[in-house]
Order: sequence, then structure tokens, then C-alpha cells
Amino acid sequence: MEEINLIAIEKHSEKLRKNLEILPLNKLEEDFAMGNYGWTRDLILSIYYEASTGKIPRNLEYRIGNRGDGFDSLDFDYKYDFDEKDFLRCFDDIDISLDLNKRNYGEKIKISMPMYGAGMSFGSISLNVMLARAMAAKELNTFTSTGEGGYPRELMKYKEHVITQISTGYFGVREETILITRIVEFKYAQGAKPGLGGHLLAPKVTPEVAKMRETVPFVNIYQPFPFHSVYSVEDHKKHVDWIRTVNPDALVSVKVSTPIDVDMVAVGIYYAGAHIIHLDGGYGGTGASPEFAKKNIAMPIEFAIPKVHKYLVQEGVRDNIVLMVSGGIRTPHDVAKAIALGADGCIIGSAELIALGCTQCGNCEKGGGGKGCQIGIATSNRRLSLLQDPKWGCKRLINMYKAWCYELKKILYMLGLKRIAELRGRYDLLIDYGPKFKGYEEYLDYLKK
Ligand code: SF4
Repeated sequence: MEEINLIAIEKHSEKLRKNLEILPLNKLEEDFAMGNYGWTRDLILSIYYEASTGKIPRNLEYRIGNRGDGFDSLDFDYKYDFDEKDFLRCFDDIDISLDLNKRNYGEKIKISMPMYGAGMSFGSISLNVMLARAMAAKELNTFTSTGEGGYPRELMKYKEHVITQISTGYFGVREETILITRIVEFKYAQGAKPGLGGHLLAPKVTPEVAKMRETVPFVNIYQPFPFHSVYSVEDHKKHVDWIRTVNPDALVSVKVSTPIDVDMVAVGIYYAGAHIIHLDGGYGGTGASPEFAKKNIAMPIEFAIPKVHKYLVQEGVRDNIVLMVSGGIRTPHDVAKAIALGADGCIIGSAELIALGCTQCGNCEKGGGGKGCQIGIATSNRRLSLLQDPKWGCKRLINMYKAWCYELKKILYMLGLKRIAELRGRYDLLIDYGPKFKGYEEYLDYLKK
């Protein structure tokens, strides 16, 4: 019986994989239903293509979506035309690595690209997807994060590249994992649902997930908001001190959303002794985040980055802390624009899932009678999880990042820069074309009626 199932699963996943390779090459009808204004069909297909080939597509709009504002209305004021031969000659000399520790304590860690994977917990995504992300992070010399749901034993093999997250529910937090990790991430809030906790629906709380979180199977898990032990910078500092006492070498990253006083929050994080400020804007989150919260509460990351960057500069501490940002980073162009606005690097969530076949359908919680994602990504169901193969997923993630790194270097080349660090805070290299999206003229006519 089990063998028949495995054969069926293998057949089904083979078809899924083939489709991901073929879809970007097809000329699809205008009304082919896929994507939304932020994650357009072209952006999704571009990532499928990048993940299949390791290359940037030629026939798709892979740089921007159709939101009409934010990153989509920004472009670079390039100084040089693209000369491919010359670019390839200086390719290896363009430096896109990033130092994650600018303090004089903790381990010195340098990642090979200014990006790492966002926290997604065991239970919200499948173990096979976690493994694919960890394997890719190791190959790419960067990181992935466990999210708040514990540290599955299978990830230990990749511990040098796995961030442990501690959040308000303390699910799965163990001294053992804090001791082996190189970066600990405190999640205070999430841009997709600031002021709200998490909710893992009962069908997703399998015995494995429940064991990891030290709770009861098939019962809803609510993650509270906020940390009820933290109401001041001093309280927050106790968190940082706790980690530094247990593991003095570990770097501490602090994830917050983007409230109106996000600049003050960031300075507080600096004075509490953290190494990394992680700002999470309102455009991230999986289909598990409530629709009313996504995009409607947190400040867009495009506003939050310069606000925080400028404030840290004014305080004279900008060069002592790393600013990583997430929540709406979809393309290598978004990464470059975020850095030009003042970030050091970006944290990538949805794009990684799309590389594995996510269609942004939003069924992460609702699909399969509560079992989750129909292609084995946002699920804890064992059978559905088998649709994702870690080795295959790892390869696709490496390919996607390879294409992104190529494009990042190309942007630097056309701007006449040699190092990604030189791009930080260079607003002067950006052009803002203002609101403009497909259908904008029709929209203006409609408003006049
Ligand atoms: S494809 Fe899966 S992970 Fe992606 S939005 Fe749909 S249910 Fe969620």
C-alpha cells in the first residue's frame, strides 16, 4: 500500500516539476489566472525560470511587479550601458558579500551574498522544504531561519547555516539549540501581522509538530503577542544578555515590524546590544497571515528603511549595526533598491517558496481540509510533504540565487560600483517615477467619472 502511494507521489511530483520548467517558456493567454498586483504572473514565472536554469529570463518582466508604487515605481539612474563582455571580465571582482557582525564582540560572520532565508516554522512549512532551504544556505554560504517552531534534528547537519528563532510562544526553544547556533533571532513582531500573534490550525499540529513545540497534537496553537516580559529597552536588553550568557559567540538579530516610530525602536535595539536589526514590512507573509492585516497595518518597507537608516546615521551608530530588511522583497532589483535606500541586506521568504513551486494561491491554511499546501510546501502532512524533495528544492534555490547574484552584480556594474556596501544609502542613484501601474490611465478616467 505504502509502495503504491510512493509511486503515485513520485509520478505526481514529477509532473509538478516538469510544469515548473515548461510554464515560463509558454506563451500564456492574458487571462491565465496567476498572481496579483504585487506578485505578478511575470514575476512568479521569472522565479520558476531562474530556479530551473540559474539564469535571468529574457521574455518576462522579472524586475518589478504592478503595484505602481514603492519598489515598482523606483528605478536606477544607471551611469554605464551594459557591455556583457566587459562585465564578465570584471564579474569576480564585484563584491556582494556582507559582514553580519559590526560589533566588537561575537563571531565574525561573512556571507557570500547580501541575502538570507526568512524564518518559517516547522508546522507552517514541511520538513522537506526546511531541509531544502538549509542545504541551499550551506552551499551558498548564507543562512536560513527555523522560525518559531523548534529545531528539527534533521537540520543539525546544517547548523552552521541555520538561525534559531525565539518568539513570544517560546515554542521549541532549547538551550541545546542556542548553544549550537551562530545567530539567534528574536521575533518581536511580523510585518504581515503586527500586533497579532500566530495561529497554527489544529489539523497542522501533527504529533511531530506537537512534540517539537511541546504541546498537544491536533489542538490549535496560538502564539501570543507580544513578549509579556518586554516593555522597555532594558527588558529587551535582558533578552540579548540571556543569549550572550548562554552562547557568547552567537550573533543576536532582532526582528520587528515597521510601526510609525520604527526609528526609535531600531536605536533601542542597537543600545540593547544586538548585532542585527531585522525590519519586516507589510508585504510579506504566507497565505496563513490574515488578509485584513497583510499590507494594511505595517509601514511599507520602502518608507521604513530610509527612516531607520537616517536615524542611525544621526545617532552616529550606523556603522556598528547591520540592517536587514524583509516583507516585499521579490527580485534582485528590490534587493538593490532596498540597499540603496539604506539597508545592508535583505531577508527572502516568498521568493524562496515560489522557487519551489508556490503559486501564491493563498491556501496555506485552508487547502486539503486544513492539511495545507497542495504541493507540499506550507504543510505538515507527511504525504503532501513528500511532494517536495530536499535535493531538488536545494538545487532550485541555488539556481534562483545564482541568477539574483548575477543581476545584482550587473546593477553594480552599470552604476559603476565595485562593492555592494558602496550602494548603501545612495538615494541619489534612484529615480522615482511616481505611481504607475498597468491600467493606471483607465483608473484615472474611472476616477473622473
Ligand atoms: S502554493 Fe502552497 S505555499 Fe504557496 S500560497 Fe499556495 S498553499 Fe501557500
